[in-house]
Amino acid sequence: MTARQTQNLRVPGPTPVPPDVARASSQPMVNHRGPEFAACMREVVAGLKPWFGTRHDPLLLTGSGTGAQEAAVVNVLSPGDEVLAITAGAFGDRFADIAEAFGARVHRHEVPWGTAADPDEVGATLDRLPGVRAVLLTHNETSTGVTQNLAAIARAIRDRVPSPLVIVDGVSSIGAVPFDFDGWGIDVAITGSQKAWMSPPGLAMAVMSERAWEAHLEARMPRFYWDFSKARKYGERGTAPFTPAVSVVYALHEALRLMSAEGQEAVFARHHRLATRIRKGIEELNLELFADPSVRSDAVTAVRVPQDVDGKGLLRVLRERYGVVLAGGQGNLEGTIFRIGHLGWIRDEDVDQLLDALRAALEEIRLPQAG
Ligand SMILES: *Cc1c(COP(=O)(O)O)cnc(C)c1O
Repeated sequence: MTARQTQNLRVPGPTPVPPDVARASSQPMVNHRGPEFAACMREVVAGLKPWFGTRHDPLLLTGSGTGAQEAAVVNVLSPGDEVLAITAGAFGDRFADIAEAFGARVHRHEVPWGTAADPDEVGATLDRLPGVRAVLLTHNETSTGVTQNLAAIARAIRDRVPSPLVIVDGVSSIGAVPFDFDGWGIDVAITGSQKAWMSPPGLAMAVMSERAWEAHLEARMPRFYWDFSKARKYGERGTAPFTPAVSVVYALHEALRLMSAEGQEAVFARHHRLATRIRKGIEELNLELFADPSVRSDAVTAVRVPQDVDGKGLLRVLRERYGVVLAGGQGNLEGTIFRIGHLGWIRDEDVDQLLDALRAALEEIRLPQAG
């Protein structure tokens, strides 16, 4: 068990949980319909708002990020609705697939993996598709390490008359990088507890605009567990329609306290500074970064596996000998890249250890071939 406690867990979720957050999550259980839970939940809802950049109350949902993607789709759309999905990687594809599974007519605006969408081209695609009711997009594409220029893309969408709903998967971005739900004109945004929020998996959060609530009244995709009317109604009373992940709400409560004590600007600056250090360290090891330089994410970095290295072997050596746990590539990128999660609870010493381990593991794994 000590090996696990000393692991430097650097996958893009679940992310490490600070000791105070782990302690908070192990508090005695309470009635989720009682006053203790209501007080905790109300503070969580209030604490989340500045990170989303919204005056709306976030909904707390029990489920993973994918559950929240599904919830975002089924709460505002109807079967047969035309939807544009901007896809730049595995999570964008998943969002499109979910909409398709519930009967939307999905058009895909695909951009090459490792690049970001050009807002003008998104506008041009929408010109050709005047019937589109909603645009799905992934703010931070976790499979490629790319952050979209969400402000500009949202503007390109909102400029149209009538303007489609802007539905954003912010699972790996919100809490780690600036997000301005109200200012950018986002209609639905979702995130998950195990990413930037330094909390265990199990909770998802969603914010809806007024326009989204209007669309919700008309939306006819099947929904029951994910029905946002229920989540809102019970949320107003400081509880949830079904048994929530109480321990994760406690954890998130403490994590938000830590994040707010550090300060929002400081949290964003730390993510940017450590991401920059990691990218620089990677290049100093003569490794190649996967994503386009101008759109590299401050939450996750994708690195090309060098020709002379077996990617799986490298991750195994890092884990077994150095306690550093990284992620492989997803979909088409399996075996071609590996990914470093640097969102949530990450400090300079974690980055030092990660880069030292990577240098040593590369030397070790290359030795047999060299000899
Ligand atoms: C992790 C992630 C998801 C999926 O979350 P799960 O909790 O694994 O279901 C969806 N979108 C993005 C961008 C993610 O990073």
